Amino acid sequence: GDDIVSRAARKLGLLAPNRPLHAVQESSLQIWSGEIVGLVGESGCGKSTLGRLAAGLIRPTCGAVLQDGKDVSTMTRSERRQAKLKTQMIFQNPYASLNPRAKIGQAVGEAARFHGLLDDGSGRTSYEDYVESQLARVGLDSGYKNRFPHQLSGGQRQRVAIARALAVKPHMLICDEVVSALDVSVQAQILNLFIELRDRLNLTYLFVSHDLHVIRYLSDRVVVMYLGQVVEEAPAEQIYRHPNHPYTRALLAEVPRLGEGKSQFTAIKGEMPSPLDPPKGCPFHPRCIHATARCAVEAPAIVEIAPGHRSACHLNQMSH
Ligand code: SF4
Ligand code: MG
Repeated sequence: GDDIVSRAARKLGLLAPNRPLHAVQESSLQIWSGEIVGLVGESGCGKSTLGRLAAGLIRPTCGAVLQDGKDVSTMTRSERRQAKLKTQMIFQNPYASLNPRAKIGQAVGEAARFHGLLDDGSGRTSYEDYVESQLARVGLDSGYKNRFPHQLSGGQRQRVAIARALAVKPHMLICDEVVSALDVSVQAQILNLFIELRDRLNLTYLFVSHDLHVIRYLSDRVVVMYLGQVVEEAPAEQIYRHPNHPYTRALLAEVPRLGEGKSQFTAIKGEMPSPLDPPKGCPFHPRCIHATARCAVEAPAIVEIAPGHRSACHLNQMSH
């Protein structure tokens, strides 16, 4: 059944040059097969790190990443290679990850050929055919395979990045700010493509974004991170209708209605503290309008406040 579980578990961290940077701390994230999980927070909150951990691009200094219920760190080399193929990552700027001298066809087909995955299920196995079918899937005709990255628009390049990721037949895509650099009209096209591909290929997504509109449009479930910790998580409609955590409520209060300009986080008081030196107690307390003395000394546990809705705030445990 639902057996893809990427669990970037307790006390995940990264090694910075001089000292351990615990960019992601007590975060436990589970992603179920076929689900679209939106991971939201201000830049620097650790959401990209969590995405990279889940994609196997970096290793946790402690904690664990599980795929299909299996701890990635205990896998054999070949199992790990398979696991890595099954989880592909797409970034904000596809131009940076495309070789400027390689044609689009090569960018899309190279990895699939290397891993012996040139089969689109139709019985056709030629390299050219495979590349064309991968391009068609993202709405690009066969002529694109002979073009170079600089001849494409930003939206077309992102389609190429999606085709390239899908060419190795992943189960899961980790998308880090993948529409942030695109015009709003192009954003909608790419988001709709993601939704269509999820349904068609039974994919699972972890969608990392600072943009709450993007996250709402796409996600089945939303996870909110602050300073390396998951502070709230709930089904998407629940979190937008009944946000619980003061940080989530502040984020939502700052999002202008559609058409009223870009979302900005600037109205939350103060700057986000350094993840190298996080505040004691609740990580949000220096900026929280509801903070009490207890918040400065005691970190709130994340607790279930409604089915599937978890939040880490002392206000949830106070008597009414
Ligand atoms: Fe605010 Fe305290 Fe809740 Fe943290 S625990 S979010 S500081 S009220
Ligand atoms: Mg980031």
